[in-house]
Amino acid sequence: QTAGGEDTGMYDWSSEEEEPDGRARPIQVLIVKDDHSFELDEAALTRILLAEEVRDREVVAISVAGAFRKGKSFLMDFMLRYMYNLASDNWLGDAEEPLTGFSWRGGSERETTGIQIWSEVFLVDKPDGSKVAVLLMDTQGTFDSQSTLRDSATVFALSTMISSMQVYNISQNVQEDDLQHLQLFTEYGRLAMEETFLKPFQSMIFLVRDWSFPYEFSYGQDGGMKFLEKRLKVRENQHEELQNVRKHIHSCFTNISCFLMPHPGLKVATNPHFDGRLREIDPEFIDHLRVLVPWLLSPCNLDVKEINGSNITCRGLLEYFKAYIKIYQG
Ligand code: GDP
Ligand code: MG
Repeated sequence: QTAGGEDTGMYDWSSEEEEPDGRARPIQVLIVKDDHSFELDEAALTRILLAEEVRDREVVAISVAGAFRKGKSFLMDFMLRYMYNLASDNWLGDAEEPLTGFSWRGGSERETTGIQIWSEVFLVDKPDGSKVAVLLMDTQGTFDSQSTLRDSATVFALSTMISSMQVYNISQNVQEDDLQHLQLFTEYGRLAMEETFLKPFQSMIFLVRDWSFPYEFSYGQDGGMKFLEKRLKVRENQHEELQNVRKHIHSCFTNISCFLMPHPGLKVATNPHFDGRLREIDPEFIDHLRVLVPWLLSPCNLDVKEINGSNITCRGLLEYFKAYIKIYQG
């Protein structure tokens, strides 16, 4: 059974962009082609963001970005499970249920650089009584050669510009080149935006997968924050380049945090027949999913997208998306 279908009462979904059988699916809205040009599927994006129920709602845009094959879509599928079962304590589902969603079409097999969004925009009631529209984006880049680094930079920049929360998915540790990439990518974004006295972007979450030093910094958010504080600290005796990367990152985001995830186990990492069922995932990973996903997505933690200090609706986001793309298309 895929995500989508039943109504739990906490939310309803609204987009027309569905399979003939009525299921929601990932939609590739931005693709980087072999000649490094960008193609925006404006029609699909318009159908999703201008659906009647969502277009005038303020939007929360959650993006997960980073290199290929580091478990982004796997995580997004659990985020979908949470969104589809917001009212339930058992949102993680049954032990034997295969995982579906972003990876469900075999789309993760193709090494495309681009942005996919989930065709259903979720309407969520926040504790303060407001209703917001939640958009989930899966972003991928290659980060390998110079030519594709530029493509990745653009995709990462765009997804950071249009999201209210960017989850930077990285493997094992926060290396100096992860920070350099982030600096390059956010600089790409900042250059394309109007200059203001405000920080250009909202929340940045470093999500470290397969963290293997829990005895130094414990799994989760507290350990993550302590680890990141140390990593991002600007020191007098540091090389200027290292200082600049850190200052730049601090100057770009209103909130910066970090979460350290344990390894999900060998079945997840290596078995080609693994279908995502919980029974085959390391319990420690599942325990931390139970913390991570609500920390990212629970209604009280959802922040509306702001640009230049104003809240943005789905309709507004569509306009920004189109305008930003034009800048990169030159
Ligand atoms: P994406 O390209 O970043 O979207 O990666 P996918 O979500 O498609 O996952 C790529 C592979 O990594 C799959 O075989 C997953 O089962 C596996 N995987 C998912 N999460 C993790 C993780 O946290 N650690 C490791 N080592 N592998 C993972
Ligand atoms: Mg993927």
